[in-house]
This record gives sequence, C-alpha cells and structure tokens, in this order.
Amino acid sequence: MKKIRVFFAVLACKLARAAIRLLGRGGTDFPGRVALKICPDLLGQLAKTVTTVIVTGTNGKTTTSRMIEQAFIDSGISYFANKTGANLISGITAEFAVHSKLSGKCKYPWAVIESDEAAFKQVGKQVNPKAVVVTNVFRDQLDRYGEVTHTLNNIRIGLQGCKNAVVCLNADDSLSASLAEELPNEILFYGVNTPIYKTRVEEVSDAPYCIKCKSEYVYDYVTYGHLGGYRCPKCGYARPMPQVAVEEVLASDTEHSEVVISLDGKRYDANVNLPGGYNIYNAVSAMAAGKALGLDPAVVSKSLSQFACGFGRMEKFDIDGHSLRMILIKNPAGCNQVLNFLTDATEPFLFVACLNDRSFDGKDVSWIWDVDFERLTEMGDLLTGVYVSGVRADDMAARFKYAGVPTEKLRVIKDYSELLKACLAQDRPVFIMPTYTAMLDLRATVSKNYGFKNFWE
Ligand SMILES: [Zn+2]
Repeated sequence: MKKIRVFFAVLACKLARAAIRLLGRGGTDFPGRVALKICPDLLGQLAKTVTTVIVTGTNGKTTTSRMIEQAFIDSGISYFANKTGANLISGITAEFAVHSKLSGKCKYPWAVIESDEAAFKQVGKQVNPKAVVVTNVFRDQLDRYGEVTHTLNNIRIGLQGCKNAVVCLNADDSLSASLAEELPNEILFYGVNTPIYKTRVEEVSDAPYCIKCKSEYVYDYVTYGHLGGYRCPKCGYARPMPQVAVEEVLASDTEHSEVVISLDGKRYDANVNLPGGYNIYNAVSAMAAGKALGLDPAVVSKSLSQFACGFGRMEKFDIDGHSLRMILIKNPAGCNQVLNFLTDATEPFLFVACLNDRSFDGKDVSWIWDVDFERLTEMGDLLTGVYVSGVRADDMAARFKYAGVPTEKLRVIKDYSELLKACLAQDRPVFIMPTYTAMLDLRATVSKNYGFKNFWE
C-alpha cells in the first residue's frame, strides 16, 4: 500500500510541476501540496536513502546553502538542492519528489536543503539529516513569526527530531548557541573571533539580555546585531569557543572579503566572493557544515571563492556595461548589514529600495523605521540618488525623507521596467534592496527585458 501511495504522489508531483513549467511559471507550492495530500509522510519516505544537510535560521540560509553546494560540486559529490527558495514542507517535498524515480528511490545520494524555521519542526524529523546548520536567530517579520523566542523554539523542536545529525551552531549568537546544552547530538560551534567592521551602524540588539537569567550581557566585541563575544556577568552563560572560526579579516570591500578560518588546528585562507560581514558568517558556517559532513576543508575553503550566489542574494547583473546588484532584504538586521557594507563604498552609487507587504514580505512594514537609513544620508555625494518602488513605495519614500535624503535625490517609480530604465540611465553602480515578492517581480522583469535566465532555470 505504502509503495503505491509513494508512486502516485511522486507521479502527481512531477506532472503538476511539468504543467506549471509549461505555463512558464516558477516557484510554487502546488505540486508539493498535491503530493502530500496523497502521501502525508512522502518526504520521510523519499529522504530515506539520501544524505542530507539542512540549513535553517533567520538570515543567510540561501547563501550558506549555495556555498555548501559549491563545496559538493568541488568535492565531486552528486546531489540536488531546493534552489528556488521553496523552503516550506510542500516545496521541499516537491524537490525530493522531482529528483526521485517513481519507485520513490532518489536519483541522488546527497541533498542540500534550506528549510524555513517553522517548517523545520516537520522537515527535520522526516528528513533525518546527517548535519544541520543553524545560521542565526534574528527578529523577523513580526506578523509571521512573533518573537525571537518563538523562532528559537521552532528550531529547538526541529533539532529534537534530528537524532543523527551533527548540529552546527553559531557560537556568536547567544540565542541559538544556547540550544547546545539541551541536545544529545554532536555539536560543532562556528564563529568569528574578531570584529568585522571598522565602523558599524547603530543597531537595536535583538537579544540584549541573558537568555538564562535576563541580566544584561557584557560584550568583549560585537560583530553585528547581537552577534559577538557576549557573556553574562551574573550566571556565567557565555559565548562558547568555536571549533571552526574566522581568526582574521584580511580585506573586505564591496565585492568580496578575504578571511582566515581555523579548523582542527590548521588555518585556511578563504576569499569569499560576496561582500558584507554576514557573508563571512555564511562562509564559516559552510566550513562547519563541510567538517560535519567529512569534506576536505581545503576544498571547501576554495569553493567559497567560486560559488554562485542565490537569486537576489547580492546577485550581480551586468547590463550594457552597467553594474546592478540585487540584495534581498527581510528584516532590520539584514538590512542594517547591507548598509554596513555599502558604507565601505568608495565610488558614487545609486540606491534603490522596493518594499512590498504581501505575506512573504511581512504585512507589517513598520520595521523600516528600525533600519538606520540615516547612514546613507551621511554618505553625502557618494549617494547620488534614492529610488523607491514596490506596493509600499510611499512608505519607503516617507522613511527616506525622514532620514534626511534631499527631495531632489529621491524618486518614486512604481513600474519596474521604468525603474530599471531609470537606474541604467545613471552611469554608476546600482544597489537594489527588494523585499521577497518585490525581488521575484523585479527579477522577472530583468529576465524579460534584458535576457537573463529566470531563477528556476
Ligand atoms: Zn545569565
């Protein structure tokens, strides 16, 4: 009976996916939902023979997954991944189904799976991964997940289902690092042993107080947000020493970072081919995943210089000699990190923000007031203009006005084709920060108007 259910569920999923592709559409949960109706534990059935690494946490899931993917490619491992960002249980199930034969046997021995934190409660248990990477816990779209402790609890429950996994935790995040002592699993801490920015934006910490006794943490250094060398003066809870650590940041600019990562007493130079301090964290977490999976660290550290970033994650487009970078934003912490790296800019640039308020963006857009956009204004002539777009373009414009962007530098352009045209008319680098659904629409417009591949191709 089970085999028949698996057969029909996989078949239905493949057919539904093919039909949607014929219609020229990308990511959708529909095929997976159909499959799960037919066989509710399909994911568990299909994942049985696959060695899987799951990446979860608030920020950095997609980029970390792409880095691990490159490490797999360079290690000669045959794998598949949920590249399209379909990271709920339906999307992950569909990804397993389309990479399986109708018998339910997966065609690939390995998989790299990015999982939404709430979905991880189910995904972890069913997939039974060999390794899990928790990137970090930050305050996310309020209306979707509630408080940080709620996100943390989702991850906790997910990890409890991953009985056989090596768990890679961010030592610098007091929230997720605290999960270590509750878990019987082998734990691998990773972290950054040094500050990463010369100057940082002023940020509101998402976790100023000890998770155990509520006293205020003391920091030896802060990397960004609430991440860094924290310790509680009252109960003694403190940052654990990471086994995989960034020891030095040798160089960083708006294109890349060069770091030294220590692992098992050896030092590895890594040239991370994406800018921004948060990508240094993604790199060291990928190194930790490599160790958890038994990959050669020399190979993994090299692969960090050549991985392809996920769509919209610092994705770079060269259009008629113009450089355009698209940087997905989801929450104040992620957004402040983008500003941190933009303030390293040494040549004039154009800044674009696209704000939507659909459910995948977060319906409450008040978070834009928690972002230190004032830093952009302080850049003076390096910031040549600010264009805003998206469903909530007017809210975004109000935020920039309040931040002190002069009216002559500020433009509201709601049509994406017009927006891109206006960007390219400026002869300078463009940095576009869209929220999730705005990114999908904008990405589709870039594909259509300028001949780039769609993200699902
Ligand atoms: Zn304490």
